[in-house]
Amino acid sequence: MKGDEMKLRDKFQVKPGHGVKLKDWNPDNTAGYDDKHKAKEMLQETCERLSQLQYRLYAENRRSVLIILQAMDAGGKDGAIRHVMGPLNPQGCRVTSFKAPTPVELAHDFLWRVHRAVPGKGEIGIFNRSHYEDVLVVRVHHLVPRKVWSKRFSQINDFEKMLAAQGVHILKFYLHISKDEQLERLKARVDDPDKHWKISLADFEERRYWDDYMRAYEDVLEKCSTKYAPWYVIPANHKWFRNLALSRILLETLEEMDPQFPPPACDIRTLKIE
Ligand code: AMP
Ligand code: MG
Repeated sequence: MKGDEMKLRDKFQVKPGHGVKLKDWNPDNTAGYDDKHKAKEMLQETCERLSQLQYRLYAENRRSVLIILQAMDAGGKDGAIRHVMGPLNPQGCRVTSFKAPTPVELAHDFLWRVHRAVPGKGEIGIFNRSHYEDVLVVRVHHLVPRKVWSKRFSQINDFEKMLAAQGVHILKFYLHISKDEQLERLKARVDDPDKHWKISLADFEERRYWDDYMRAYEDVLEKCSTKYAPWYVIPANHKWFRNLALSRILLETLEEMDPQFPPPACDIRTLKIE
């Protein structure tokens, strides 16, 4: 397996302030990794290392990690959560899925439901969709006027900056698939009875808005990739590479955070165990 020496984090991060044209980001890219089976072994090793670091993060109890996953329908958010986060200790790990807002949620500001789900100290939190829906689906379907959603980019940046100052390390992943790959995956759902439960007519309807979504995503990536909360565009046509890239970037981040066990709460030498 060749693979590339460059950190995947550097390779797939949207540099703050840079313009993004998604057609220049190849969803088939595998960054020089060419062996699916070796990649699966690497994923397993990465996940083992991740669980050790998660253990330390939890024990340290000072900082947290927030992973935000966004993608088009069938983009692989659920699969990524299963493969990359599955091996983590459920104690200290929380997944929150954001659906169309309830009437109570709609009665509040768009960050209200999100803020309550932010991981506390020592935790890893995963958002399956997020506050970014409020500048994606909301924009594409004109659910609020432009003058409302257009202010949200800076509101989101301020919110995330506040979280970062509070010790929340934010990683945002856009799982990038092609329109053809989406069609293949939607068809596979029709062909496999075990996947029928995943079929929603809306997903097929939404394909008509593909270009509008791409434009909305480009704006998100351009306006909201920041030093304190960067966006990563993960090539996601190959599920094995998507999983590997996500896990490696998470590992690179946790290694840099280098969580430490806190000192013991009492003097261990004076302990008498009888
Ligand atoms: P799924 O992730 O397949 O369960 O679908 C959740 C649905 O909720 C998607 O169609 C999203 O577009 C929709 N959704 C999530 N957040 C919002 C939001 N803030 N406003 C409107 N729709 C939303
Ligand atoms: Mg869906």
